[in-house]
Amino acid sequence: MDCEILTVGTELVLGFTVDTNAAEMARALAEAGIRVRRRASVSDELADVRQALAAALERCGTVIVTGGLGPTPDDLTRQAAAELFGARLVHDPAVLADLEEKYRRRGIAQMPASNRRQADVPEGATVLPNPIGTAPGLWIDDGHGRLAILLPGVPKEMRGLMESEVIPRLRSRGRAEDGGPGTVIRSRTLRTAGIPESALADQVGDEKRLLPPGLSLAWLPSLAGVDLRLTAWNLGEEEARAALEQAAGALRAKLGAHLYGEDGDDLAAVVLRALEGQGAKLAVAESCTGGLLGARLTAVPGSSRVFVGGVTAYANEAKLGLLGVSAEAIAEQGAVSEEVARQMARGVARALDAQAAIAVTGIAGPDGGTPSKPVGTVWIAVLWRDQVRTFTHAFPGDREDVRGRAAQWALNYLRRVVAGAL
Ligand code: ATP
Ligand code: MG
Repeated sequence: MDCEILTVGTELVLGFTVDTNAAEMARALAEAGIRVRRRASVSDELADVRQALAAALERCGTVIVTGGLGPTPDDLTRQAAAELFGARLVHDPAVLADLEEKYRRRGIAQMPASNRRQADVPEGATVLPNPIGTAPGLWIDDGHGRLAILLPGVPKEMRGLMESEVIPRLRSRGRAEDGGPGTVIRSRTLRTAGIPESALADQVGDEKRLLPPGLSLAWLPSLAGVDLRLTAWNLGEEEARAALEQAAGALRAKLGAHLYGEDGDDLAAVVLRALEGQGAKLAVAESCTGGLLGARLTAVPGSSRVFVGGVTAYANEAKLGLLGVSAEAIAEQGAVSEEVARQMARGVARALDAQAAIAVTGIAGPDGGTPSKPVGTVWIAVLWRDQVRTFTHAFPGDREDVRGRAAQWALNYLRRVVAGAL
């Protein structure tokens, strides 16, 4: 089945609040095999909400709305929906009792009078209980193909109601419409690093021959690398699983050592796992990344089993004093050089007694570039069991891009060196 999503809030339209609800709902709906045809946002104006609701119901028949269910005068979603469905807003005593009970439990004897509005329900609507917040969700079905589902704007409350009420109800409704067991939309993502999108596309070759029917492939490049997202559309649960497994297997073979994980896998976690498997400890020496590597590694739960620590050696004094980099190397080759990166890796591994080390030194910009070492020049050294390998890059982008790319490439080099795949 199909639906549209409407989010209500002037702050959303103005861009002061990012509309995470629509994205999150679209993902949850896709999981359940419900196709989102359109998403829109409107301000807290009765006419705007009414128009957008009417258009969505006209086009698609089903619309899920968030926001504007609160107790303040700018919360008008309930009213707009009631008008469109030709229903009166009636006071629901059970909802009111529930609201009052929630306030009592919070130690507030007298509920603010404005909250009574939240007990107004369009006649004939089903109340969807919201244990986390005050306003319940509302399910308004006219029995003639028009269904409006109203949810609170607070993301946690929206999420709770989607899970407990909306998705289960839509699923059984979809099954009834299709007259059979439900189909699903399922995805699987293969994550690569260290290879540009175009080179990866050449390596993968003709994707049509790789994909079973009903599957599509999306290429999603970012600073972290290129994700390949496989999606199975409108297949049965088991059929979707098997098709995704088959396609992922075929893709994996094409991607080889560039593949570092699947779905939510993080490269730092993958590296830590590989090192733990080898009983090795890791240390990092960072100049231009200034602690980014350390932050990424320590963001992984359990990283202390592998990650010993790092030195942010930004100025030359720190490279000399803390890492034992030689003054000659800096004088002759410069702080951003192969030799300095190498000495930083050796120095931090020695200082922290680690079998693996990464060192990064570079020019993140916007200043500091020279004709021979332009902004974006980065040297990376990877030490693994006494051997040091070095790599250089001319990264594109601004300061944040250069630093982010340097951290990701450095982790990826270590991953490949440890795997013996470089
Ligand atoms: P309440 O009952 O709390 O008043 P409501 O249904 O009236 O809820 P809003 O007042 O529109 O919802 O929004 C409440 C809060 O939820 C906002 O301050 C905003 O931070 C957040 N919010 C609302 N809509 C969205 C959205 N689409 N995406 C992300 N956050 C949102
Ligand atoms: Mg509100």
